[in-house]
Amino acid sequence: MIYADYNATAPLRPEAHTAMMAALDIGANPSSVHGPGRAARKVLETARSQVAAAIGGIAQDVIFTSGGTEAIALAIHGSVRKLDGDCTLLVSAIEHEASAKNAGFANAPVETAYVNTNGQLDLDQLQQRLRNWDLTASGTPILVLMMANNETGVIQPVAEAAAIVHEAGGLVICDAVQALGKIQVNVSLLGADYVALSAHKTGGPQGAGALWLRAGAPLMAGLLGGGQERSLRSGTENLSGIAGFGAAAEAANRNYMFMDKLAEWRDAMEAELKSVAGVTIFGESVARLPNTSNFAAEGFRAETQVMAMDLAGVAVSSGSACSSGKVKRSLVLAAMGVPDSLAECAIRTSYGWKSSEEDFRRTAAAWLEVADRRRMKETA
Ligand code: PLP
Repeated sequence: MIYADYNATAPLRPEAHTAMMAALDIGANPSSVHGPGRAARKVLETARSQVAAAIGGIAQDVIFTSGGTEAIALAIHGSVRKLDGDCTLLVSAIEHEASAKNAGFANAPVETAYVNTNGQLDLDQLQQRLRNWDLTASGTPILVLMMANNETGVIQPVAEAAAIVHEAGGLVICDAVQALGKIQVNVSLLGADYVALSAHKTGGPQGAGALWLRAGAPLMAGLLGGGQERSLRSGTENLSGIAGFGAAAEAANRNYMFMDKLAEWRDAMEAELKSVAGVTIFGESVARLPNTSNFAAEGFRAETQVMAMDLAGVAVSSGSACSSGKVKRSLVLAAMGVPDSLAECAIRTSYGWKSSEEDFRRTAAAWLEVADRRRMKETA
């Protein structure tokens, strides 16, 4: 089976597996003061340093969570609460549901920050909206903008947006879940105040993530209890998951050169699909994650393609994989102005640390065969 669904979950890296097994064997609480507890604390702090190093930050600014969703929820609800709701959330139209739904559920007004047809944030619209921002009437503007989109891979102009938002006295929450390990994430260059990360998109385990917080950025805890994670996220840490996250982040950080190879192989695959079958590639005119290709052929519905590709031995997903496994209308493609008739035919292929050039070649061959078979059936 060719696994081409890394944006859903990347296979566990061997480094992460080893670190997790070692952490599980400690069997002690990192908050305990005895020897085994101190050994567990050491594992926790090593992972914190590894994650911080992978994003060009410092360990004390990293708060471990149960994953990307919780990191985003903590940033959104925690900042809104700390500001007593005296703020407005400007949420990009292409955010993951973790951001969009938590923003909708926060105690603050929400506005949409629109994207261009290429899938990138419309900086002119943002600039216009913030030029005459009335802090008294609308409170602190908080932009919620991802670093790279999970469906199209389109990379967002976070640093440029952050400069505009900061000029207006605002804050920026950046979901870098899909970016980590695929493109360099450097919190200093990014300019965001909060950066959300997840282990399982990078070759770490599911159920571990982190929120990086700029020193001094307003945040109120959501989970109260034993005071772990600087009292910003109570609850005994998921030590093995976090150890795996640290090891995966470190391994990914050593591996960016390989991502250039993925981009090369991805581009060759897309060129073949375009020339033979005339597919539309979404986001192709702008910078994208090197591992992601989202494409459609009019009239060939996504769910049919996903099933046919599965039978042909290639695991892909349609648009954004959602927890129920059902195919939903892609809000990302809709925000880019893609008509529904084409959007419902979009599939996403995504690759990563274990992928080979052969995987891309075989994906293209399988897709072309599946599309051919369908065409023959239709004309028969
Ligand atoms: N943000 C983006 C862009 C994602 O792709 C995902 C996962 O699909 C998440 C957030 C949620 O991360 P997690 O699965 O770790 O909760």
